[in-house]
Amino acid sequence: MITSVLDLFEQTLSNFPSKVAFQDITRSITFQELQREAKAIGSAICRLSRPNHPIAVYMEKGANNISAFLGCLYAGCFYTPVDKDMPIERVGMILKNLKPEVIICDENTKGNVTGSVILLYEEALTNPVNNEILENIRTHTKTTDILYVLFTSGSTGVPKGVTISHAAVLDFIEWICGRYDLDEHTLLCNQAPFYFDASVPDIYIPIKTGATVLIPPKSYYTFPSKILRFIEEYGVNTLIWVPSALCNVVNCYAFDVCVPKSIKLVIFCGEVMPCKHLNEWRHHIPEALYVNMYGPTEATYACMYYEIKKQFSHDDCLPLGKPCENSEIILISDDDREAVPGEVGEICILGQCLSQGYYNDWERTREVFVQNPLNPYWTERMYRTGDLAYINEDGDIIFVGRKDFQIKRLGYRIELGEIEAAILSEQRIKSACCLFNKSTNEIIAIYTGEIAKKELGVCLRQILPQYMLPNHYIHLDAMPLNLNGKIDRVSLKKEYTKE
Ligand code: AMP
Repeated sequence: MITSVLDLFEQTLSNFPSKVAFQDITRSITFQELQREAKAIGSAICRLSRPNHPIAVYMEKGANNISAFLGCLYAGCFYTPVDKDMPIERVGMILKNLKPEVIICDENTKGNVTGSVILLYEEALTNPVNNEILENIRTHTKTTDILYVLFTSGSTGVPKGVTISHAAVLDFIEWICGRYDLDEHTLLCNQAPFYFDASVPDIYIPIKTGATVLIPPKSYYTFPSKILRFIEEYGVNTLIWVPSALCNVVNCYAFDVCVPKSIKLVIFCGEVMPCKHLNEWRHHIPEALYVNMYGPTEATYACMYYEIKKQFSHDDCLPLGKPCENSEIILISDDDREAVPGEVGEICILGQCLSQGYYNDWERTREVFVQNPLNPYWTERMYRTGDLAYINEDGDIIFVGRKDFQIKRLGYRIELGEIEAAILSEQRIKSACCLFNKSTNEIIAIYTGEIAKKELGVCLRQILPQYMLPNHYIHLDAMPLNLNGKIDRVSLKKEYTKE
């Protein structure tokens, strides 16, 4: 019986012991080596921490992180990735909430932390493997045990630790690998940092299938033509990236330099993918299948998907589609009814994919992990996402925006996302973000791209009703991105609305 991701890993290991699982610019690691390293690290952790406790993995991004993660699991613990490049205050807030008994550090990070036992990665690798203890720990594992805790931003600025169980990841990985025929021939190019849930498929697809993941240096993404050349050189066939990274390729005209024809599958998730940019990808690599996935960290990467088969015009909104297998989506109205088709409601998620709640934070857990209001008969947990959507005539779910991006102005209900989509539909715009200043009741449009503010205003007048027109336009040379690579709305809001 499969009770943990380690069972999956060991099945794959027996089929592909000497195949490369993860490769960065400094090293590649086979499934066999991965196990040897993970068991050594796990044996070292066992001496320092108890099973079912958190371990922070605070290292430079690379293949080494994976053996550290699996090491935590062999010790019966769960891991939290903390990246070397994360701001020190954020690391402090995460460690304060998590209180790990052990932090796995490398030479780059060991000087940054105090207060917990530090296990040096390089030293842990030399620890003798204690199979007896590791096997004993395995006999106690259950699918409901926590696998990892990922910290998301949180609207208050204090990160929330999203707990995810083995069961949730096993479920998602089973679905995605089956749906897209992922196997040992799958070659991925990792984009997302490991502390962000967009990297979860990159970590667990190889563990399930024997696929290989390349981990290029972060700097390659600053020069998209470099990353395209890298993809072409290695023959990467699958990309699981955030939309901003795909948009960057288009905005920097990287396809003029290189068009990697090896790409067969492009999955994106995490924010709205503008059709204008998607159309460029489809134009250059028409053979690939493009999939828009939707999901918060609280629902294990994705719980809805939409495969793009028909044409979309530049200003269309891509559907989120339908729920992934074993997940359910209901749209709940303001008065706790199920929204009727066409009516906007809050996206609520049910199923195995759900987090067990926020680590060490019962209050915030209770706010959003609630009883399904449509079921008065038994306990049925549901996650309220704060995202708004409706169901269209094809039965597909259409994203409207976040509840907190919905504003009232002059009595009208306005989705800031709709204004952003209108701005993005103008050919010369590269990226856009709209903010609402509550104190002045004004809409601020921030954009990058070669178009003057006045001209943009004239264009928008032809698309948007008067009450939706921004009051101010701010042109930036580059849009600030947050740690996850999405548009950094928090810093923009601070700067331009002083809120
Ligand atoms: P995160 O937990 O960082 O993955 O962020 C989850 C949030 O990103 C969701 O609640 C949505 O607001 C947004 N999101 C995720 N996927 C999509 C998508 N395909 N289209 C639009 N927004 C998305």
